[in-house]
Amino acid sequence: MTGQDPTGAVGIDTSKPHPARMYDWYLGGKDNYPVDEAMGRQMLALDPRVPVMARVNRAFMHRATRWLAGHGVRQFLDIGTGIPTEPNLHQVAQQAAPDARVVYCDNDPIVLAHAAALLRSTPEGVTEYLQADVRDPATIVEGARKILDFERPVALSLIALLHFVSDEDGAHELVDRLLAEVPSGSYLMMTHATADFTPEESAAATEKLKAAGVTLALRSREEFGRFFDGLELVDPGVAVVPEWHPELGEPVPGQEDGVIPGYGAVARKP
Ligand code: SAH
Repeated sequence: MTGQDPTGAVGIDTSKPHPARMYDWYLGGKDNYPVDEAMGRQMLALDPRVPVMARVNRAFMHRATRWLAGHGVRQFLDIGTGIPTEPNLHQVAQQAAPDARVVYCDNDPIVLAHAAALLRSTPEGVTEYLQADVRDPATIVEGARKILDFERPVALSLIALLHFVSDEDGAHELVDRLLAEVPSGSYLMMTHATADFTPEESAAATEKLKAAGVTLALRSREEFGRFFDGLELVDPGVAVVPEWHPELGEPVPGQEDGVIPGYGAVARKP
């Protein structure tokens, strides 16, 4: 069944789970369907910390954005934005730098349906939303160029996105392709889920999602690190997500039960 969302959006498929909607459910949002909640509950049965992981991931996005704005970055291209959850990236960036310009991008029609919340920019800054797939970087760059000046540094934000893109779909190559478009002094900020700490649960989660039509491409620390080849990693380099500049935000409660299985890093294009 392809349902029609109350917001009037078309193309929302409520017959299978979608990452953006499952993530919204983990965060306690309302923009998800029974099929997303059902799969979300299966993920929780494998690792009850999934909602904490989602919050830890959001908190990384806030800290990395603050760090970048604090280091003079005024342009952000955020791909795999997700359903709006306040504060969104532009709110964090524009709090530090009201003139920050942010282009958001996601391929899920439900994000488009809720994009209005992403478009409430400061008067000095700009926000824009593109519906596009990260596997089609040419379309993203073409759209983003209308808003961002590609002669000046751009922070490319791929937060909790690339574990949905397989090697067959060219995850590493498309990051290289996007980075080739931005000038020296640009940054890559990224988080990514991993099976390194919970191999059995991760394998089971990958199988369940695959059966429901969702690709999960968990990567090791080394595979994650390869996304940053040729870039200068910002201190402390590749870190488990909560350990990247914790001083830039509040700690997320509920992390007592072991390491959160995801990596984060920020790096500068030389
Ligand atoms: N970046 C947000 C949301 C992460 S959830 C955050 O960290 O809070 C992952 C998001 O990536 C979802 O919104 C999903 O729709 C999007 N996504 C997955 N595959 C994608 C693709 N191929 N192209 C663009 N977006 C994609």
